[in-house]
Amino acid sequence: MPLKNIITVPDPLLKSISKPVDKINNEIKILINDMFETMYNAPGIGLAAVQIGIPLRVVVIDISKGDKKKPYFFVNPNIVWRSDKTSTYEEGCLSIPNQFAEIERPESCRVEYLDLNNQKKEIEASGLLSTCIQHEIDHLNGILFIDYLSKLKKNMIIKKVTKNNKSEKIVV
Ligand code: ZN
Repeated sequence: MPLKNIITVPDPLLKSISKPVDKINNEIKILINDMFETMYNAPGIGLAAVQIGIPLRVVVIDISKGDKKKPYFFVNPNIVWRSDKTSTYEEGCLSIPNQFAEIERPESCRVEYLDLNNQKKEIEASGLLSTCIQHEIDHLNGILFIDYLSKLKKNMIIKKVTKNNKSEKIVV
């Protein structure tokens, strides 16, 4: 299966609202497989479809470390409950390479989503998984972790990423 190209800031597609999936068909299953392969290869612990240029509400996650993979995928995920208690992680993003910032989010959340048989499922997540799910669902709504920072800090990060991208493109 082909690896997909991950888009980076300031690509305007990252600001778009992803569309819900009508029905999980073969095309969506192939998309999910491509997303897992692209995420593991990056490497990252989460990826939203929009990050490979497909603005559909599909997210893949694997926060496991080491050999034993624990893949999660969510189609049309929707947060139905958030805890008042919060936690803070230093977040990064495959679409904002090499940039990190501490982001505070609800420590736990409950998420509704579709499984491969188009059945509604629910998961309660806490800790790193909860943060990761919230970060990925933000992508579906055109929100990046840098949107939680001050405008100055956010612009600095975008500038850094843009500059790095430019310096990589050498034509000889
Ligand atoms: Zn991200």
